[in-house]
Amino acid sequence: QPGPPPEGEGTHPLPPPLGEGRGGGPRANPILYTAYRAQGGYRLATALARGERDPESILATLDHAGLRGLGGAGFPAARKWRIVREQPAPRLMAVNIDEGEPGTFKDRHYLERDPHRFLEGMLVAARVVGCDAVYIYLRDEYHACRQLLQAEIAALQADPPCPLPAIHLRRGAGAYICGEESAMIESIEGKRGEPRLRPPYIAQLGLFGRPTLEHNFETLYWVRELVERGPDWFARQGRHGRQGLRSFSVSGRVREPGVKLAPAGITLRELIDEYCGGMAEGHTLYGYLPGGASGGILPAALADVPLDFDTLQPHGAFIGSAAVIVLGHHDRARDAALNMMRFFAHESCGQCTPCRVGTAKAAVLMEAPQWDDATLGDLAEVMAEASICGLGQAAPNPIRCVQRYFPHEIA
Ligand code: SF4
Repeated sequence: QPGPPPEGEGTHPLPPPLGEGRGGGPRANPILYTAYRAQGGYRLATALARGERDPESILATLDHAGLRGLGGAGFPAARKWRIVREQPAPRLMAVNIDEGEPGTFKDRHYLERDPHRFLEGMLVAARVVGCDAVYIYLRDEYHACRQLLQAEIAALQADPPCPLPAIHLRRGAGAYICGEESAMIESIEGKRGEPRLRPPYIAQLGLFGRPTLEHNFETLYWVRELVERGPDWFARQGRHGRQGLRSFSVSGRVREPGVKLAPAGITLRELIDEYCGGMAEGHTLYGYLPGGASGGILPAALADVPLDFDTLQPHGAFIGSAAVIVLGHHDRARDAALNMMRFFAHESCGQCTPCRVGTAKAAVLMEAPQWDDATLGDLAEVMAEASICGLGQAAPNPIRCVQRYFPHEIA
């Protein structure tokens, strides 16, 4: 775990220890509005609203800390804020808590423990960028989170520490594709959740045709922490030349799965040994999925590669939302790949042919004991090159990884 934070004005402990127990830890005991304010909460948002904090200094802090979009894309947060801020008003904001990537449960983990840390980050972003209204898109399966968030937004609105933008809490309807930013925006607008062709980008033409700042929950969750502790605190946490912290949702054949807040750039082997209590009883490491269903499958031989944005591309994988699923030697990568392809076929929105037809055909071909490598290779190429959005573009990753790293399973 990261070392103890420096003492100083405005600093306070991180949320409760992470990664305890199975299935995301014990039931959370959330920090509610009164307690959050008593711990210095909303001082940053209030200072910003009163003009006592300069928005530029906050942007500089995020830049220096290297905060990137933690939903999976990794786009630098401050750069995104600046881009949207330069667009004509009125501007809107959309927050993605759809958390549909298989194996990902970090947003829920933080939300059910410290909802106001996220809400304050959201208010700070809305103030710096100048957003009139915020739409929070919450995964409908998170019933308890919705009740908590509804109650805490009501408490915030009943006793606001500073002027608030309009806050709308919208429920998703269980579609994986609505985690894609433009599909989420379509869904918030009341339409089918189908990704848009870009350009125009949603920073220019987003929700209800207005410039829109879109963020994943966790990116906003860290804003207050970074500003109060200072950017160096975050930046110096990395390992193997990387910068910052990452919240890994670890599942699979490890002794202690759960959300693990660990240095960016940690290797899988270090993550398992230092944060997960080692491999589960009776299992040895065989492979792993570094980024949920979309991020590919890597073999145990690549367990010493730093895990971060940009580090896995040479190996045909990516970290995405840092959902790490660990396979043991009783597992087969081809089974995991088939499971994922069926998932993609089920969740494809059907808007474009390469993805709609490609995922369904690939799932059938992948059931054969011996894979038709040439046909699957063609399908993979067409899906990756011609699909409209990331679902279809990433869907071939499991095929390609099995062909590249686990050929003995499909020969
Ligand atoms: Fe829909 Fe798939 Fe095309 Fe994305 S790639 S727009 S999910 S059909």
